[in-house]
Amino acid sequence: MAWAEEKTAPESRKGETGYIEYWPGELPIVLSAPHGGRLIPKELPNRTTGRLQRDAFTAELAMEMRDALQRRYGVAPHLVICHLARVKLDANREIKEAAQGSAVAEKAWHEYHGFLHEAEGAVMKRFPRGLYLDVHGHSHEKQQVELGYLLGKDEIQWPPQKLNLPEVAARSSIRLLDQNSDEDFAALLKGPASLGGLLEQRGVPCIPAPGAHVDPGDLYFNGGYNTETHGSLDGVGLDAIQLEVPRKFRNEKTDREALARALADALEPYFQKHFKMTLPVTSPNAQPQAPVPGAATSSATSGLNQKLPSR
Ligand SMILES: [Zn+2]
Repeated sequence: MAWAEEKTAPESRKGETGYIEYWPGELPIVLSAPHGGRLIPKELPNRTTGRLQRDAFTAELAMEMRDALQRRYGVAPHLVICHLARVKLDANREIKEAAQGSAVAEKAWHEYHGFLHEAEGAVMKRFPRGLYLDVHGHSHEKQQVELGYLLGKDEIQWPPQKLNLPEVAARSSIRLLDQNSDEDFAALLKGPASLGGLLEQRGVPCIPAPGAHVDPGDLYFNGGYNTETHGSLDGVGLDAIQLEVPRKFRNEKTDREALARALADALEPYFQKHFKMTLPVTSPNAQPQAPVPGAATSSATSGLNQKLPSR
């Protein structure tokens, strides 16, 4: 089933290849899903090196996040989706590894990053600051959302006095946000008002978050090409966070919608506190969301009995 063909919203547009879709928005928020595509057109050769697996249901999840934000705030965020399967294009890599020599894949790559630049430009024209969230799916055992700030799994566990050394924030994807927030970098990363903290309060286990720790042998995605190049590591533009979502929050529509609502709700205090911006709450339905059902269950074990094939 070609989900992309059936669910194309009228307010979106595509690049010339037809493989990259952009929904312009009005919030200071940009979403993207580089690895959720399902299309495997014959005109593109298969990629042969690097990761090739799709992040299942992340295009759907990003759409549901957009819908949840629109319901919550009355206006939508920007959204860019790559409909090509990862075996044809990896839109979260530099162009050489991404397209592996295919001219069509290279063109799609330019469309993807061009739309992200356009979205970023549209945000910066209207707002002093903004946030870019790159949506992925991981298959690690622990059913927690891994928030990537370009810091390694050892670094996110550093004590506050070490995390708060200026050079640490300076090599993160939220470098500008650190300068803007009244909270120190350690709190911005894993305090109660960090994105991980705010999501956990809404029933979504995260790392980094207050009290969350990495066990020996745990895998953790700390952010990729998109987070690096479209975030504020370079000192300008949007801040960026990579969202690596576990199967528990992406395989079923109700779970995806619960996560999307929790995110939409968490971003209001997040923007208020750190960006010092009030997101426009204009929707009559704009109410704080109820916590995700089952929030109190163990984040490390729930969902593991689904025995789904590895993605
Ligand atoms: Zn991915």
